[in-house]
Amino acid sequence: MSDIRDDVRAGFNELFGYEPAGMWSAPGRVNLIGEHTDYNLGFVLPFAINRRTVIALGLREDRVARVASSFADEVVEIDLAELSPAHLHGWAAYPLGVAWAMGERGADLAAVPGFDIFIESDVPVGAGLSSSAAIESAVAIALNDVWHLRLDRPTLAGIGQLAENEAVGAPTGIMDQSASLLGRPDSAVFLDCRSLESDIIDLGFVPAGLVLLIIDTGVSHSHATGGYAERRASCELGARMLGVGSLRDVTVDDLPRARGILDDVTFRRVRHVVTENQRVLDTVRTLRESGPAAIGELLDASHLSMRNDFEISIPELDLAVETAQANGAIGARMTGGGFGGAAIALIRQDDLSRLQVAIDGAFAEHGFRQPDTFVVVPARGASREI
Ligand code: ADP
Ligand code: MG
Repeated sequence: MSDIRDDVRAGFNELFGYEPAGMWSAPGRVNLIGEHTDYNLGFVLPFAINRRTVIALGLREDRVARVASSFADEVVEIDLAELSPAHLHGWAAYPLGVAWAMGERGADLAAVPGFDIFIESDVPVGAGLSSSAAIESAVAIALNDVWHLRLDRPTLAGIGQLAENEAVGAPTGIMDQSASLLGRPDSAVFLDCRSLESDIIDLGFVPAGLVLLIIDTGVSHSHATGGYAERRASCELGARMLGVGSLRDVTVDDLPRARGILDDVTFRRVRHVVTENQRVLDTVRTLRESGPAAIGELLDASHLSMRNDFEISIPELDLAVETAQANGAIGARMTGGGFGGAAIALIRQDDLSRLQVAIDGAFAEHGFRQPDTFVVVPARGASREI
């Protein structure tokens, strides 16, 4: 952590030639359970992880905004008066989209000063750990501070989502930003995506001797195109055909009726969302009553539902999950939007190295690229660093 902060300060100084006004950071997140439920106004249970995006920000005397990242070679510059989704492209649409979205949610962009931002991150990009929300959330809390906006964290999450939806053009839900902004150490964020009420749920991994392993397949996904938007459209179609505003209003008991109304594909998409919502509620209850060692079956069932009903898994993710289950994991599932990215395995610390060896062996045997495996720890949400 301190290494990244030193790098960010040095990077900022070198590029912009002055000391930043401050540094802010926000974590990536992993979703423990509740996949493709957020935009259906259901339940999710992500946690913030010990991988962070750190930014240094300096205020300017003019109205220019400049952003740079160790991730990219260019410095992107825009006048605040010109900020609009149509003028934002590529990676800079994430940080500058947040500045634009703040104007949409209450900031008077005509009255605020310009800024320079330098970004550095150890959140892996495109691994389903939401490097996008980490960057949005870090910029959101920074601008909220330096522009004296006093917006609360749920509002900042909405600003990150608006930036991602409109400036980046990815139709994602509110989960990632909420986890990044609301996370606490050793805890998950139980979020009701309709009311936006959240509860901090103790995960208790350490006392139970458990760790959460990420198995990053290295297969990249893209939210802006393809399957994600298609699944979203299926869910909207299903809700419309069932006469409800969103799939939040469909319960497990309604599924027999839904089967008679919907075509097979739409029915299975709906069944995933409806049963996944129930699994999130069951996971929260199980964590509270029995602790993390008891949630394995729910994780396993979530994966099967994504593989068979929602059809967003890929052979690499299935192999990661099956290998984990066969090598001591308490539970395992793919996580994130699907079509690539990572799987998670909840496993006893003592069984971890055996599983890592097994994963490497299984991927080699199938001729798949070696996955990156690493443990993530539930960590604090976005915060000012200096
Ligand atoms: P993820 O699952 O990691 O959120 P996304 O496709 O949603 O994947 O977001 C990844 C994109 O976010 C990158 O392609 C890049 O445009 C932007 N991004 C993430 N981290 C950084 C960074 N440190 N600097 C600049 N842009 C970043
Ligand atoms: Mg993302």
